Amino acid sequence: MYDVNSKHAEDFINHEEILETLAYADENKNNLDLIEKLIEKAALRKGLSHREASVLLACSDETMNEKIFKLAEQIKKDFYGNRIVMFAPLYLSNYCINGCTYCPYHAKNTHIARKQLSQEEIRREVIALQDMGHKRLALEAGEHPTLNTMDYYLKSIETIYSIKHKNGAIRRVNINIAATTVDNYRLLKEAGIGTYILFQETYHKEGYQQLHPTGPKSDYNYHTEAMDRAMEGGIDDVGVGVLFGLDKYRYEFAGLLMHAEHLEAAFGVGPHTISVPRLRDADDIDSSSFKNGIDDDTFAKIVACIRIAVPYTGMIISTRESQKVRERVLHLGISQISGGSRTSVGGYCKPEPEDEKSEQFDVIDNRTLDEVVQWLMRMDYIPSFCTACYREGRTGDRFMSLCKSGQIQNCCHPNALMTLQEYLMDYASPETKALGDKLIDKEIQNVPNAKARSIVTENLRLIRENNRRDFRF
Ligand code: SAM
Repeated sequence: MYDVNSKHAEDFINHEEILETLAYADENKNNLDLIEKLIEKAALRKGLSHREASVLLACSDETMNEKIFKLAEQIKKDFYGNRIVMFAPLYLSNYCINGCTYCPYHAKNTHIARKQLSQEEIRREVIALQDMGHKRLALEAGEHPTLNTMDYYLKSIETIYSIKHKNGAIRRVNINIAATTVDNYRLLKEAGIGTYILFQETYHKEGYQQLHPTGPKSDYNYHTEAMDRAMEGGIDDVGVGVLFGLDKYRYEFAGLLMHAEHLEAAFGVGPHTISVPRLRDADDIDSSSFKNGIDDDTFAKIVACIRIAVPYTGMIISTRESQKVRERVLHLGISQISGGSRTSVGGYCKPEPEDEKSEQFDVIDNRTLDEVVQWLMRMDYIPSFCTACYREGRTGDRFMSLCKSGQIQNCCHPNALMTLQEYLMDYASPETKALGDKLIDKEIQNVPNAKARSIVTENLRLIRENNRRDFRF
């Protein structure tokens, strides 16, 4: 039975409710009066329910779709301005005992190079990432109870935070690891992680069971209830997502929004971020053998509909997407992107040919971080290396209430400018630096009030003189 408050996966991601939602969306996909009303409701910026948003996703009327895209663009501007937060994944280990049929880390893959980074290798990777300019990482690993242990993760997080190379520092470590216990989530929280990320892969239980035939991840309920346990363990910033291409996208979309509604109802705070990965070729994985792939137009529509359904939730896109696709969806709602990514274990620090064989999926956007930063600025975005929120205690509902009131902009915009200035001073190519300095001079005028503007101006001057502190609002 559908129950948004229930702690049981089958209640809050209720199959019948999703089927009814899809039927309702089908019945109403040409109901232009209703669609117009839903767009008006979404324009109030308070979000839409999974049913309402599913109608918009199903709608194929061109004029209405234009309105949906326009609204998504406006909401993106209102809540996130022109800032794009930068991050990089760091693959710690690809040892895995699961049997996920779409992932090359599956236990039966005997020819992929298996590797777990030692603390010394992590140090080298982190220095390479700091030397690129990264301040925010997403740790990634397969699931292996005796190798990828909680102790290993905690030690790795400690190592990462401890490395201060030149002016570099990793200031926010997010982590994308297998579903675990409340006690382990508590330990991750105490270790100072930012967001706990876990993709549902698919919300369709039957499909899930076929795609995850063996290993701990095959337990749909345990996986789906992971965010509840994370929140019980005190992690109030969680990141959800589905792997588009595994099951039918309209089903996944409804499930994703139901998951967000459940977290909001049960814990008073929805997901901090939603990721929208699409299935890619990888080692022994041929994405074309999966029948639910989505084209770029559908992908763009999904991004726009998520944006207007959950305006306060950040949206992440990785280097699984090309420059062209990223360009298309950035303005529709994406707030965070990765740059200069390697998906192999040990891929940042002078990768050996052997390391390339440990890749999780083929990276499509292969540009360097400097190239990505420059590209963003040429489109008038401000690449932001900000990590201030969780370090200032702005997590969970505190973050959300600031977001809903619009006050978060007072912090985000100055922080984006100051962290971009740090990047430009320390890591940018001369061309990127020249562009960035100009952009900052222009954007300083948009810092909301005069007092903040003068503080930011002074801090920017100090950064330019290489008189550093960890400036943040
Ligand atoms: N072991 C953790 C888990 O079970 O969720 C972390 C998983 S993995 C390091 C991160 C994500 O990569 C997965 O959740 C999955 O969505 C995605 N992934 C796996 N295979 C992929 C592929 N072939 N193409 C694109 N993304 C893939």
